[in-house]
Amino acid sequence: MMRYKETVNQSAEYLRLSLPLMSRQAAALHPLSYAIWYEYVAGINKPLKAAIDELTSDGRVLDEAATVELYRKYIAELDEQSAQRVSAGFQKVLADITQSAAHAGDHADQFGNTLAQWSESQGVAAPDYQAEKGIDKLLSGTRAMQGAISTLKERLDDSRSEIERLRQEVDRAREDALVDGLTGLVNRKGFDLALAACLSAAETSTQDTCALIADIDHFKQVNDTYGHLFGDKVIRAVAQILKANVKGQDTAARYGGEEFVVLLPETTLDGARALAEKIRLTIEASRVRRADNNQEIARITVSLGVAAYCAGETAGEFIERVDNALYVSKNKGRNRVTLAPAVTGHRPGRQAAGSAQSAQS
Ligand code: GH3
Ligand code: MG
Ligand code: MG
Repeated sequence: MMRYKETVNQSAEYLRLSLPLMSRQAAALHPLSYAIWYEYVAGINKPLKAAIDELTSDGRVLDEAATVELYRKYIAELDEQSAQRVSAGFQKVLADITQSAAHAGDHADQFGNTLAQWSESQGVAAPDYQAEKGIDKLLSGTRAMQGAISTLKERLDDSRSEIERLRQEVDRAREDALVDGLTGLVNRKGFDLALAACLSAAETSTQDTCALIADIDHFKQVNDTYGHLFGDKVIRAVAQILKANVKGQDTAARYGGEEFVVLLPETTLDGARALAEKIRLTIEASRVRRADNNQEIARITVSLGVAAYCAGETAGEFIERVDNALYVSKNKGRNRVTLAPAVTGHRPGRQAAGSAQSAQS
């Protein structure tokens, strides 16, 4: 659900309206300030407007705490997409303003030069002191104007770098929203975005795209036996192993609780199977120790499913095939890798296997 539905032009207008209001406050000009003043001038948040009107009556201004509180109470989470749009709008308007200031400056320069030339050419002829006085006045007026405009330009340049910094902050916040806090891997949302981007590129690519899903075996038992905190440690250890085994354009993500997914662009099913097998073996050979007594824990294993993308299937269908292959691994006794059969009726990936096959070395 999108919080802001305004067009670029509308939002630019709201930006113009909110800037003077926002800068009148004691709070800094950060995105939280902007969000509350944007919604204020846009008239899309009645309770927020009432609260601001109340707090700023009698000429009072909003300080940092009041601003953050208003944001928390009346806006809460600004969803990323909107934040992105708002900051893009911010950038555009400032670029426009700076450009017009630059134009105005150029015109003033030209005007000033013309006057100066004219006064020089006049100087050669018989001097008319009255006229010269008038010209001096004009020239000094023009210089004052040039000075004012270049100050304005400097200010706008400053605001522009401030806005650029804010935009980068918003970008970072957006990235944070796509990262899993426990493992530092991409989260499910981030994975879904990466998958969508990869599949739209795959439409035109001649290379195979593969994905694998790894699910920790009997993880409930690990939690029950050693506690949830230790369970978290195991999840982080498995994530570390995945991270160490993927390269370049691959995306390793935490898909759910103890479930991981790796997207492998430009990888054959054979290559994906080999990687899955390597991950399986590495995890099987690893030992996680308890923090308190350094005691070694019974081995951790994972089951994996692997599939090559078939042209024409949706992201959901593709992942479902990977998941089905994972379930075959679970049903066959866990700690193994299963390749998904290609989709019937779709063009199969060149390396796709004709039927499910399960392997354990
Ligand atoms: P299987 O081999 O069939 O996968 O068995 P399982 O026990 O791993 O599967 P199940 O899906 O029944 O259990 C997964 C457990 O993972 C249940 C849940 O309590 C636990 N879990 C999910 N997320 C987390 C987490 O973030 N931390 C910890 N410690 N446990 C989690
Ligand atoms: Mg499990
Ligand atoms: Mg699971």
